[in-house]
Amino acid sequence: MPYEGEFAGYRSIRRIADTERVQKLLNRSKVANAQQKQSVLEAEPAPDAVTDLPAFVLAIDGSYQEVDVKTGYPGAKVGYVTVASVLLDLAGVSELDEARPVDPKEFRKTEQASTIDSALPGSNVITINQSGAQESFRQELYEVFHDVILDDDQRIRLLSTFEALLAYKPKSKTQSCPYSESDGCDESFAIPNGCTQCPSCKKPIFSTDALRIHERFRDVGTNGEAFGLVMQVWERVLLIHILRCFEQQGILDHVGRLAFFLDGPLAQFGPPAWLSAAISSELKRLNKIVHDKTGSDLLILGIEKTGNFVTHFDEIDQTENPGEARFPNRSYLLLTDSYIKERIAYSESDKRYGEDTYFGRKFFYKSQSGARIVASMPFLNDDQDTLDSDDIGLYPQFPTICALLDKLVSSRYENAVSPLIAAHSHAAIPLHLGAKVLKRLAQALMGDR
Ligand SMILES: [Zn+2]
Repeated sequence: MPYEGEFAGYRSIRRIADTERVQKLLNRSKVANAQQKQSVLEAEPAPDAVTDLPAFVLAIDGSYQEVDVKTGYPGAKVGYVTVASVLLDLAGVSELDEARPVDPKEFRKTEQASTIDSALPGSNVITINQSGAQESFRQELYEVFHDVILDDDQRIRLLSTFEALLAYKPKSKTQSCPYSESDGCDESFAIPNGCTQCPSCKKPIFSTDALRIHERFRDVGTNGEAFGLVMQVWERVLLIHILRCFEQQGILDHVGRLAFFLDGPLAQFGPPAWLSAAISSELKRLNKIVHDKTGSDLLILGIEKTGNFVTHFDEIDQTENPGEARFPNRSYLLLTDSYIKERIAYSESDKRYGEDTYFGRKFFYKSQSGARIVASMPFLNDDQDTLDSDDIGLYPQFPTICALLDKLVSSRYENAVSPLIAAHSHAAIPLHLGAKVLKRLAQALMGDR
């Protein structure tokens, strides 16, 4: 029973867990059993990096906060959603870091402006031209996509990247009119680019309605779920946007100087999950250009701080002797479909784990300093797009990834992107909102900083 330590003090939970009804349910439930035949994967020693480490790491890390505001209507709330991107100069990362820890909170203070910075309507916040909070939310979401521009020259909108991803969504997949609940419109259609109107009720439709985040928007109460989805979408679309801007500028062949770190798994959950397949297709297309030009793959990593995979790694690293770990430092485990379904997310389905949500593959890594890292790397071609093979050679960037994690992750701040950056804050260059972001990145890529 996990309740003992975890919920110490919450006696009522303990009481509920002991009730006859709960016990009856558990008796009818499958319980992971050590005696049962279970997949066991052995930790493998990390391969040595054969190429140089990238010169820079670009970390993309969002956050959101819901705040109460005064509008004269009760319970009015606004969601403040930001996505920070920080460029880390690896040459500036010294061995002395652990001796000079930086408080992540203090570092955040110095980093106020973000690459995407927005306030979105929550419950009971209605913008001037709209008739309801949900409609206001939809319009503001569209406008942020429309307004975010990171480059001075071509002025490519974040919206154009989103609509490029939308083009991958099968047109046969229609969705109900966003006004189905408020106005009873029963039209169902594929959302086009730009700002259009519903063929039936003639009300405004935004291309970003295809994200369907508004379906999780609530007119009353808290909208943490909707804002969390917005944040997750922005982080992922921003990654693709930066790569597409490099493509437009003709500098994709220099992208080997840059590694991308994303907060969270390489996946998209909830109503916008269709983005996952679109991102995967777009990453494969971009990677082919990079690979044809340079012979190397893109270097992209998603790092998970919490969740079942993090818990599982912690558990399997324990041995009977307290303080002794099962995973040696510099070892890894490439997770397979059968392992995940038997040991972490129980399923008897033939459908691949995360088929509709993931665009990358998970692995566990124990760094040189002993930090446990749960991360995923993207499927960059069709061969890599598997959870069955345990051949690490499918992912030629893996040795470099291990070396990079060894360099960046201290045992003090395991499993996290922003603390990781904070730990090296003297080498970090925050990329603020505005058109200069891409310029700085391009300069870094071209090596003339
Ligand atoms: Zn309609």
